[in-house]
Amino acid sequence: MGTVYRGVAASDGVAVAKAWVMAPAALSVERVEGADPAAEWARVEQAIAAAKQELEALRQTALEKMGEAEAQLFVAHAQMLDDPELVGQIRQYLEAERVNAEWAVKSVIDMLASIFEGLDDEYMRQRAADVRDVGNRLLRRLQGAEGHHLADISEPVVLVARDLAPSDTVQLDAALVRAFVTDVGGRTSHTAIMARSLGIPAVVGLGDITARVQSGQRIAVDGGEGLVVVDPGEDDLARFAREMERQQGERARLAALRDAASVTPDGRRVEIAGNIGTPAEVAQVLAQGGEGIGLFRSEFLYMNRETPPTEDEQFAAYREVAEAMAGRPVIIRTLDVGGDKGIPYLGLPQEDNPFLGYRAIRVCLDRTDLFQTQLRAILRASHYGKLRVMFPMIATVEEVRAAKAQLEAVKASLRREGVPFDDHLEVGIMIEIPAAAVVADRLAREVDFFSIGTNDLVQYALACDRLNERIAHLYQPLNPSVLRLVKMVIDGAHAHGKWVGMCGELAGDPRATAILLGLGLDEFSMSAGSILKVRDVVRSTRYEDAKALAARALEADTEADVLRLVEG
Ligand code: PEP
Ligand code: MG
Repeated sequence: MGTVYRGVAASDGVAVAKAWVMAPAALSVERVEGADPAAEWARVEQAIAAAKQELEALRQTALEKMGEAEAQLFVAHAQMLDDPELVGQIRQYLEAERVNAEWAVKSVIDMLASIFEGLDDEYMRQRAADVRDVGNRLLRRLQGAEGHHLADISEPVVLVARDLAPSDTVQLDAALVRAFVTDVGGRTSHTAIMARSLGIPAVVGLGDITARVQSGQRIAVDGGEGLVVVDPGEDDLARFAREMERQQGERARLAALRDAASVTPDGRRVEIAGNIGTPAEVAQVLAQGGEGIGLFRSEFLYMNRETPPTEDEQFAAYREVAEAMAGRPVIIRTLDVGGDKGIPYLGLPQEDNPFLGYRAIRVCLDRTDLFQTQLRAILRASHYGKLRVMFPMIATVEEVRAAKAQLEAVKASLRREGVPFDDHLEVGIMIEIPAAAVVADRLAREVDFFSIGTNDLVQYALACDRLNERIAHLYQPLNPSVLRLVKMVIDGAHAHGKWVGMCGELAGDPRATAILLGLGLDEFSMSAGSILKVRDVVRSTRYEDAKALAARALEADTEADVLRLVEG
């Protein structure tokens, strides 16, 4: 029997492979006195050349897998290795101190990084992280260390890390990274969401798994159960093999529903769409039979780069998605930065409560330069397909009016310039804040549709940080309080003839499907991997029964009672 650890089930699927523990950012380096500066300098030069080759390979991979914007990060890192300031200081250090190359590199990097870190500016602090990243790459080459960078992975592994940033997760190669497990995180952290969209099994919030596993140890992961087994025994392996087989059989059964309608046996039809972060993910949504894109998290276009994407870059991305979806609806959510999605170069202030702070529409209504550029790109792309625009984190009616005023201003300027766009493009808002749910009937008068963002709605309704694994038990999407808010939103919209979707993770949870159907939800948008499971439930649930179930769920005392109703 292996050693079993339980964490937060973040992305379904099972996998067994060797562990690959992501090294901590700082490598240990010792000072060696009396070294020959010329010989050490030659070693540094070699390490720089090798590091540049690595960065070029990374750039090409990023370009193929993700696009120009993501590839830029590696160009910037390679440029640092040509920076006379950095390289010159290392050389001087070697000559002045007569120490080993590793110590000189570490000292110069520490000094430069701490200068950046001391500056009161988020962008500059991110530069410090870049300097350290480049420095660690050089140190690894000097030490001949095993690769510790994600792109160094060359065989099937289970990635073990303290945490992965959403920008790390997008780079994972699903063919090699069979699963990942992390010390921190919750089910609706953006790292977990990306894992689901890439179809990589994941368990997060394991506490200190990085301290308990070593690279090379065998590790088995059941992402659906939140279970990790280190050094699995014969029994464990047999169990995992059976589970893998069962899941394969289930996938084959569901694949037959790819082109089936999302309709209940008694004729209630809904739309089942996919959530994406990059244009590349459209293919998975279509492959799984998605009927639209219910959420394009446009902020991913802004990540892993040094400056915001230009209007033309964004236009190209939105147009690509619009055209790939060939007339099916695509909802582009405007920039939702903040919370757990940092974009260093925007220079947003460091805050004690980022989820309650300067984020999403609050930033956009303040930084209208950014907002208008994005709106122009969306409107221009609307000429090439069926685009809809959606504003995140709306708390008040005034915010909707202000965002719509910006949209109207941009439309007016495009009209003046004779640039074509879809003048009937639907405008919606996300309902993620309880205040917005409560006044949904008022908000409904302002827009064409709502999409309920339960990831945030749950954290705000229950005052429970979506990333904090210590209070994960309180993060209850099926708590009757949340269901009652969802009902208020749907009723408020329907009273004004508007439709309501849901793009939070609850929409992709098959245990919730019948209740949401019964509450009257019109559109469900989710990670590609959940589409067929949810369609399966829709096709086998009578709408009349769903309504009765929803009514009982609203009257339940606890989330556990709701789950019993669904599973019973
Ligand atoms: C949500 O809050 O439910 C949502 C879909 O937005 P995000 O997860 O990107 O915050
Ligand atoms: Mg949200």
